[in-house]
Amino acid sequence: MNAKACFRSLTLLIAGLSSIAVGASPDSAPLPTIAREQVSATLWMQRAEEYRIATESVFRLATERLPVLVSEPGSAAIEQVGDAKAWAKLNTAIIVDLDETILDNSYYQARQIRAGAEYDEASWQVWMQEAAATAVPGAVEFLQAASRAGHRIFYITNRACAPMPSMDDPCPAKTATRKNLQRLGLPDADYPDALMLRGSHPEWRTSDKTSRRAWVASRYRVIALFGDDLNDFMPRADYAKRRAEFADFFGRRWFLLPNPIYGSWERALLGGACTPSMTATQCAMATTERRYGLLETEGQR
Ligand SMILES: [Mg+2]
Repeated sequence: MNAKACFRSLTLLIAGLSSIAVGASPDSAPLPTIAREQVSATLWMQRAEEYRIATESVFRLATERLPVLVSEPGSAAIEQVGDAKAWAKLNTAIIVDLDETILDNSYYQARQIRAGAEYDEASWQVWMQEAAATAVPGAVEFLQAASRAGHRIFYITNRACAPMPSMDDPCPAKTATRKNLQRLGLPDADYPDALMLRGSHPEWRTSDKTSRRAWVASRYRVIALFGDDLNDFMPRADYAKRRAEFADFFGRRWFLLPNPIYGSWERALLGGACTPSMTATQCAMATTERRYGLLETEGQR
């Protein structure tokens, strides 16, 4: 059976199963394809001991490496350029991404799945305003230990700093996120520059985090980076070209958390599957067809 035929058979099977899905009545519309396909990944992050062990292991390794990261020359930020002797005298900093690195938003994902919906900006804003994300296992303990050891923590996130119609606040996402960090007892949440959102400065309007890392690197020696996406370390396109140069940074200066739900890995695979003329349903089906087509059934790597 080729990929297309396989996809069609699975579509018919899944359409039949959707009537017995959680929250679906027998005569309700089939659940949107992408939401349905994120059930296992979301369950793994919420329920699997393996996920908890994996993230705690990453943060434990980083905690053990902190003294070495300070004593070893060098920087974790590729944006830290110039005279190494000069920036070796700077105070030290650690840069972390927020979503699915420090903050667990799987509850938002679960709500969208239950509602038969996908990610959308409006529902995401509602979730952010709740400031109810919990911490990725191991994150609080690591960040508190790093702060006690004297390292400044910078949170570089692509949560968007943009006004909302019903709110007076010029950056409601920043206010809500800071509240979330404070609730979790995360260090430096009150430090004015620690929380760096997309668009919170005129030069930080894009999702590319290079300029924000450079801002930190011009003021501190960056000893470690944490993220769940290659873009948290360097632009994904650059990594593809410089893989050999930076491969041994991981587990030493760069610490990667697992995120099977979303990320630039997925966008890289699914880019172009949808066209502007497609409806949301057609787009969901097209991306699902792309996913099935990309499955490898023999060792090819
Ligand atoms: Mg993230």
